[in-house]
Amino acid sequence: MLDEPDTSLHARLATIVGEKNVISHAPDMAAYLAEPRDLFHGAAAFVVRPGSTAEVAAVLRLCNETNTKIVPQGGNTGLVGGQVPDSSGAQIILSLTRMDRLRELELPSNTMIVEAGMTLLRAQDLAEQADRLFPLSLASEGSCTIGGNLSTNAGGTAVLAYGNARDLVQGLEVVLADGRVLNNLSKLKKDNTGYDLKHLFMGSEGTLGIITAAVLKLYPRPRSTETAFIGLQSPQRALDLFLLAQSQAGQDVKTFELVPRIGIDFALKHGANTREPLASRHDWYVLIEIASQAEASARMLGLLEEAFAQGLIENATLAASLEQARDFWRLRELMSDVQKLEGGSIKHDVSVPVARVPDFIAAAGAAVAKAMPGARPVPFGHLGDGNIHYNISQPVGADKQAFLARWDEANSIVHAIVVQMGGSISAEHGIGVLKRDLLPGVKDAVSLDVMRAIKKALDPKGILNPGKFLPD
Ligand code: ZN
Repeated sequence: MLDEPDTSLHARLATIVGEKNVISHAPDMAAYLAEPRDLFHGAAAFVVRPGSTAEVAAVLRLCNETNTKIVPQGGNTGLVGGQVPDSSGAQIILSLTRMDRLRELELPSNTMIVEAGMTLLRAQDLAEQADRLFPLSLASEGSCTIGGNLSTNAGGTAVLAYGNARDLVQGLEVVLADGRVLNNLSKLKKDNTGYDLKHLFMGSEGTLGIITAAVLKLYPRPRSTETAFIGLQSPQRALDLFLLAQSQAGQDVKTFELVPRIGIDFALKHGANTREPLASRHDWYVLIEIASQAEASARMLGLLEEAFAQGLIENATLAASLEQARDFWRLRELMSDVQKLEGGSIKHDVSVPVARVPDFIAAAGAAVAKAMPGARPVPFGHLGDGNIHYNISQPVGADKQAFLARWDEANSIVHAIVVQMGGSISAEHGIGVLKRDLLPGVKDAVSLDVMRAIKKALDPKGILNPGKFLPD
């Protein structure tokens, strides 16, 4: 009896996308049901893999009619559980990875239209082949997809100069819950004809519609790049250096990342192919990248000279080769991975106004030291964006599970400081399941009301990614 609706749904889905693109065999579904860290896992009735916008539209029409809940999924790399179904086994996963074509690349308008399932790395490569830059850059770029990047408004290491994912989009194609296709694939820079609807869908974590294609903005490829690793005394000095860099090199400052000494220690201890970045030891480090259409080295050298003269920095080294620049980047990129090898790590992805970053790091450090003696904060990340990954490694020798059991408590300590400074509890990873229940505590009640009204207008039956992002 219970199997009947499923069987007919299976048959109807298969009519739309083809039998082999409706996966129901448990072992074949496994890779879609848990994310790589296995923090979130669920069950699903089927994994459906449409190959075109028309197929997505037909699937959504059917799901809306049958009240079938849909969890959209791209590369399955999200960090907050937004792409993972619940445990009921009644939801279906809509995987967009078959939709990975380049539809058009148009140099005069500096745009390219790609489908949602294209990996970020492929989009970057296509831009490069056309002597352009698609600047979005993040750790999972080899497997994350454009659709996922846009629906979560991904951040990463190029936000400082180019903005978040939403800033890199000129237009979108979106399938609505009822199966209608909203065609907003505009290449226009100027178009003031009403609400800019694309921004509703970016960052909505698949709760308002399914992004199937996007007009991505392309940028000139910098002709010259300089990377430096800088040792300095404190986050305050790093902030001062950031201001100096902005005034000297402006838009050419592409990256400004903060790394604490403890993070370097972890990377040297646990990371392959790592070495001490500077001859001397420093409490804090900055990884800075300056890239320009003209010569970047004069800019970088001028900045470092002035920073020394002002006493902002203690030591610095310029990457002498591409390989050395990659070594510097490896130290930064290992920050998250190497913490796993130091036991339990409680994570935060927060932002505060850039000017408050040093105060935030100091206040959070003091609060954590008081509540969790011996715990080791490893604050690192995108200082230039005010976005710090405030991770806390367990005390040496402590029990991992006992430490991780204090996750919520640590969150409330750190988030209270963030909120008090006018910051955000999710700077770039999103809300998903992980932070859903925290949202009402930190978000303005009127904003939440407006969000619920929009959700109701676009998805009245609540079939799109239910249980994510917006608390009931
Ligand atoms: Zn980040």
